[in-house]
Amino acid sequence: MDAIAVTLGLITKSRSLFANNNRRRVVLLGFDGVEPRIVRSMIEKEQLPNLKTVMKQGDFLNLTSTIPPQSPTAWSSFATCKNPGEHGIYDFLRRDPKTYFPGLALGSVHPPEFDEQGNLKKEPYFETYRKGTPFWKIADEQGIRCKVLNMPYSYPPDTLKNGLMLSGLGVPDIRGTESLFFVFSDRFTEEELKQSISGGMRIKLNFRDSIAEVKLPALRNSINPKNGFIEANISFKVDKTTKKVTINLLNQNSIQIEQGNWSDWIEWEFPVTEKYSVKAISKFFVKKIDEEVNIYMSCLQFHPRYPYIPFTHPVKYSQELAERYGLYKTIGWNYDTHALRQDVLTEDVFLDDVRKTMAWHETLMLDELNKEDDWKLLMTMWMATDRVAHLFWRFRDPQHPEYDAEKAKIYGEALEETYRIMDRVIGNAIKSVREDDWLIIMSDHGFNTYRKGFNLGTWLIREGYLVVEGQTNAETAYNDQAFLLGYDWNKTKAYALGLGSIYLNIEGREKNGIVKNEQIKALREEIKNKLLSVKDPQTGVSVISNVYSCENFSGNEVENAPDLILGYHEGYQSTKAAAKGSAPQSIFEDNLDKWSGDHVATDYKLIPGMMITNKGINTHSPHLQDIGVSILSYLDLNVPQDLQGKNILES
Ligand SMILES: [Zn+2]
Repeated sequence: MDAIAVTLGLITKSRSLFANNNRRRVVLLGFDGVEPRIVRSMIEKEQLPNLKTVMKQGDFLNLTSTIPPQSPTAWSSFATCKNPGEHGIYDFLRRDPKTYFPGLALGSVHPPEFDEQGNLKKEPYFETYRKGTPFWKIADEQGIRCKVLNMPYSYPPDTLKNGLMLSGLGVPDIRGTESLFFVFSDRFTEEELKQSISGGMRIKLNFRDSIAEVKLPALRNSINPKNGFIEANISFKVDKTTKKVTINLLNQNSIQIEQGNWSDWIEWEFPVTEKYSVKAISKFFVKKIDEEVNIYMSCLQFHPRYPYIPFTHPVKYSQELAERYGLYKTIGWNYDTHALRQDVLTEDVFLDDVRKTMAWHETLMLDELNKEDDWKLLMTMWMATDRVAHLFWRFRDPQHPEYDAEKAKIYGEALEETYRIMDRVIGNAIKSVREDDWLIIMSDHGFNTYRKGFNLGTWLIREGYLVVEGQTNAETAYNDQAFLLGYDWNKTKAYALGLGSIYLNIEGREKNGIVKNEQIKALREEIKNKLLSVKDPQTGVSVISNVYSCENFSGNEVENAPDLILGYHEGYQSTKAAAKGSAPQSIFEDNLDKWSGDHVATDYKLIPGMMITNKGINTHSPHLQDIGVSILSYLDLNVPQDLQGKNILES
């Protein structure tokens, strides 16, 4: 009798608890790479009123990022509530130890397959290398409707029974690249046309009677890769007096654009076989119709009505968004940082695009937030904060080699301006947040200046760990070839790849490995200690704050972890050349790139993200892994035992 009464009591209790908690919802706004030090100082100056309101209701804490604090690693730990040893994403490149050949660490596009008649045999798809289940999928399986918008590094989108998802960063263009712009000019020299430019392609315009015809290499011919690219014919007709260009696209109406303006979305169709074609969208920007003609075109993005590979769940959600708002950016790398770095787009055009894109995402967020379709978890992610910090830091650091005092007067507050837009977005979201809702505003890592590059491979050569083919003197040897080519593997003990990773050349694991199992620990320790004593020869300042090893991780994917991961002091990063596996002549070089702020290989302890919430947090140091677990707990859902985060919400 008693037992039954107790049981009944429990049932009643849990039911009433459920009735209460059933009203609970979670709204999470994730802003990539927001630096908490800047936010704190802006809040003090009353420049972020909405963030201040939220902070006063709950908490503002630094949020511990991952080792390394790179976005793919950080967002993967956020999604899976697990350390990189479980999800397997450590850096943007990985290498195959059997060939030493590097490849992308995140995933890759598999092109469509056809039968001999050109009929589609297998749809193209994207394979992700991230392991583990995101927490919104766990919530979905327990009957919760989740809306996951612009989620970075979660591509392909998860199949949700109850919810919807729009993948963000990681969605490639139709060429399978992160994003590849085109720039057309009549002034390109032969030399310039031969050079490859990062994230873009130059195409020469040869005008005859003010008309130039070109072929646009759209996507690789997957039926016959030797035939190169499937091309589209475009003609440009310029009128230098009116500063207008008329662009004729095969099978489409011509469009006219004036200097300094964007086109509307252009819709493309590229036939791969007689029965299968790929559709895409892009936009032109006319930079100059003057002595020089210079026209930019964005990457060829997936068409939201006919996506080459779906980037939403359900698939029709991408079409629904196009019905609601018209065509929209679908590329994951949704700000063309490459074009700004190559001087193809200007700072003004870039920032204007930031404002417009953020406004579009804000509209989408508010529409989904205000829809009474019984959602319980809504997350929207924003990349602009990270991109503006990467590119405009040079205007806020007078000691940066690329600092320009005149331009600093104009762009010195570009990041603050972006944070003010973030605050506006939050203010508009707050209006729809109810008392029972948990509002979380967070960033995955912070930011700092990047003044000087460190050539990790060159340092390894000087110290005798890495050996260049035919090398005679370690003091002067170097290797400009990328992708780990040109090293003498039979003499190499350690090599560098990615933004701060070192791999040992281990016998039995690497093709020509020479480091024996019993030597691994001591070698790791030796390299670590030498790195910690590296000083900047110009200033005498210590360069590396900490060095982490695969022992910092646990899980099935540890075997693919780098053996050592650098954590730089503020101001230093690995150079781009080092990241690609080259070893340029000198160990240090000034950072002369517009990519002037960074975080990727900074010691994660120096570069936390932030967490501002309308509810109290029970720890001083929440971790990215904790958020998903806490959300599941708040929504009264089962938390699988293997998740590594903690519930950090004050009870
Ligand atoms: Zn990030």
